[in-house]
Amino acid sequence: MTYHIKLEEYACPDCKAEYIPYEEGLPCPSCKTIPTDVSEKYFGFINELIASLRINKINSGRYIPDAWLTASFADNLQSVFFRLFQFWSIKKPKDGEAFINEYFKNFTIEDTEVEYMRDYLHTIALKVHSRKEEIRVSWWTRRIGRFLS
Ligand SMILES: [Zn+2]
Repeated sequence: MTYHIKLEEYACPDCKAEYIPYEEGLPCPSCKTIPTDVSEKYFGFINELIASLRINKINSGRYIPDAWLTASFADNLQSVFFRLFQFWSIKKPKDGEAFINEYFKNFTIEDTEVEYMRDYLHTIALKVHSRKEEIRVSWWTRRIGRFLS
C-alpha cells in the first residue's frame, strides 16, 4: 500500500509556473508573486507528504516504496522526497540540514530544467526534516503496521 497525494498542481496566475502552494501566503517559486486565490486544500500537503513517507517505511522498511506510479505532479514531487529521505536514512548524517543543502546543490529534475523548482523542493525538504521524528518508524511500529496491512 502506498499513499498518493490527490492534489492537482496549481498554476501561478501571473507566470503560470506550476507548483503546490503548501502554505498560506507562499510566494510563487518562479515570479515571487503571492497569489490570493489559493484553496486551503493545499495547506495539508506537508502533512500528507510526511504521512506517505511513514506509510512507505512501515510497509517496505524504506522511504521508497516497492512500486510507485508517477501519474501526477504530486506523484512526481513525492518521489523526489522518497529518494531524498531514503538516501538520508542510509547516510544517517549528523547534520541533516547540511546534508540536505548539499543534496540540492547538485540536484537536477528529470524531464525538466526548471531552476526555480530546486529551491522550492529544497525548502520543502527542510520543512520535512524539521519534523523528522514523525517519519522515523520504530521496529515495533513496523511489526504492527505490517500485521495490520
Ligand atoms: Zn509566478
